[in-house]
This record gives sequence, C-alpha cells and structure tokens, in this order.
Amino acid sequence: MKSDYTDVAIIGGGPGGYSAALYCARSGYSVLVLEKLSPGGQMATTGQVDNYPGFDEGIDGFELGEKMQRGAERFGVKTEFDEVVSVDLASSPKQITTTSGVINAGTVIIATGASPRLLGLPEENALRGRGVAYCATCDGQMYKNKTVIVAGGGNSAAADALFLSKICSKVYLVHRRDSLRASRIYQEPLEKSGVEFLWNSRIIEILHDKRVNGVRIENVKDQSIRDIPVDGVFVAIGRVPDTELFRGQIELDPQGYIIADETTRTSIPGVFAVGDVRTKPLRQIVTAAADGATASHFVEEYLM
Ligand code: NAP
Repeated sequence: MKSDYTDVAIIGGGPGGYSAALYCARSGYSVLVLEKLSPGGQMATTGQVDNYPGFDEGIDGFELGEKMQRGAERFGVKTEFDEVVSVDLASSPKQITTTSGVINAGTVIIATGASPRLLGLPEENALRGRGVAYCATCDGQMYKNKTVIVAGGGNSAAADALFLSKICSKVYLVHRRDSLRASRIYQEPLEKSGVEFLWNSRIIEILHDKRVNGVRIENVKDQSIRDIPVDGVFVAIGRVPDTELFRGQIELDPQGYIIADETTRTSIPGVFAVGDVRTKPLRQIVTAAADGATASHFVEEYLM
C-alpha cells in the first residue's frame, strides 16, 4: 500500500471540491482530489445547466465538471479516481484510506455532496433525464408549457411546484398526507398558483415509452388507482447527504449534514465541509463553488 502526503486532500470532485482545489492550488498548496466516479458530482447528471453564470447558452453538466477538473489541474491539482474507505480526521496528519493506499493530509475538505432521495420505483433511475427529474430550478425550463407532477410535501416540493407553475401549463403536487409540512409562506402563493393537489396519494408507477408520459397514482386511504398523463415527474422528497464515512468523528445535524457555517469550518480543526454536504439554506452549483473559495481562505489560516 502506498502512502503519500498532501497539504490539502479533497474528498469529492464536484463544483465545491474543484473550486476549493483551484483556490488552494493557486495559494501554493499541494492538492489532491479524491473522486470515486467522474468529475462533476451530481452536476454531471444534469443535461443542461442554465443557472451557473458565464455560459450564455448553458452547458452540459458533465462537460462543466470536466472543465472544472481541467481548470484546477492547470494549477497543479492532482485527481485520483479512487474510493475512500475510511478516514481518521483527528490524527495529525489526517489520514485517508482509499482502495489503493493511505493519504496523509494537512487538511481535509469534505465535498461529498448529497443525493436526492428516490421514490424507489422500478425504472425511476433509467428514466432520469427522460422525464424524471430531481431539481426544478435545474431542469424546469425543459418542461415549458408542459404538464408535470411534483412528489413531496416539504419545502422543496412546495418551492418546486411554485417555480414550475410559472413555466408549465399544468402542475400537480402529489403528497401522501392530507396537508403539506412546508412553511406557511408557501401556502398562499401555492393556493393562487393553480397547482392541483393530490392529497393522501402516492405515485406507484411511472408510465412511459421512451420518455415519461404519465403516472399511476394510488389513494392511500381507499386504495383507488388513477392514471394521469404527465410529461415530467419532479421528485422532491428530501435529500440524503453522503456522510456515512464521517459519522462518529464529526458533528452532523439530525438529517446527517455536516454542521458547518459560512466559514466551512467543521467541529474538527483543519477539516472543512463545502457544497451540498454541509448545513446551508441553498444547495446549488454556484453556492457550492462559493464554499470552495471560502474553504481555501480558512485552509490557509489553519496551515499558516
Ligand atoms: P423534507 O422537509 O424532509 O420533506 C420531505 C417530504 O417528502 C415530506 O413531506 C415527506 O412526507 C415526503 N416523503 C419522504 N419520503 C417519501 C416517499 N418515499 N414517498 C413519498 N413522499 C415522501 O425535505 P425537503 O422538502 O427536501 O427539505 C429539506 C430541507 O431543506 C428542509 O429543512 C427544508 O426546510 C429545507 N428547504 C427550505 C426551503 C426554503 O425555506 N425555501 C426550500 C427547500 C428546502 P411526510 O411529510 O409524510 O414525511
């Protein structure tokens, strides 16, 4: 097993990770990004990114991920495509064990992100990008003047339904209870929005040919079934942060997000959390990238 030292080890190669990498490398530190799949993280699964500034025609999420990787590597950042199997964040230097070796690091930036919670329906994953979506602000414009259904009853579902009601010709909101748990601020605008609520109901099947063309809905009270033609299904039933590796070492909130404020500092000195994995009000590419820049500032302060 090989063993290497780096000033900054970054776990996760999404926009938060590569923006931290770019800034840290430009400050003169040795930087290693550990990514288990491909650069871009969740962003890489988004066909068209229109809400990251600087791309007047929008850009494919996978391509943006590659650009972020190349942009950081231009300043000496190294990327290792490897899975992290364990970490020791309290040791000095900090230790990261991957499937091919141990990395000793002066600081660690956690940028592992969060994944949308899935409905768990057959073919849900296969239809992702062909009618199944998990982010209204990212993918909503593709459903302009179309019919969509939003699943969920929290703030994300309420915000997504409202957002989509301004773009789509028809929006349904399906929730397994008889009322939303979303904040009151959403109630009145939602009532005025024309969104049709399907209470006490759940999607039991996504209907499709090559793309989604409908949903089968079950009423959970009387088990009645109905099919509704839709062009898109927006799943907004919460997210799951990728923090299992760190549980027991670092402070997490009840949902499993790493507790870190705008400084990106965590409960462990020298360990920072950026992007969707940390406690924050808005999880977007641009806010993840901003975290990366902030983290580099506090990395520098720590390594001084
Ligand atoms: P959330 O608050 O955890 O709500 C998830 C919703 O999805 C709940 O209504 C839940 O139903 C439903 N659900 C969960 N699993 C389901 C399943 N398998 N099938 C059907 N429905 C399911 O998640 P969120 O709305 O994504 O919000 C996450 C956090 O971000 C919250 O703290 C939220 O306040 C915050 N947020 C804030 C804003 C804002 O303030 N503008 C916007 C978005 C998000 P039950 O009600 O039956 O449990």
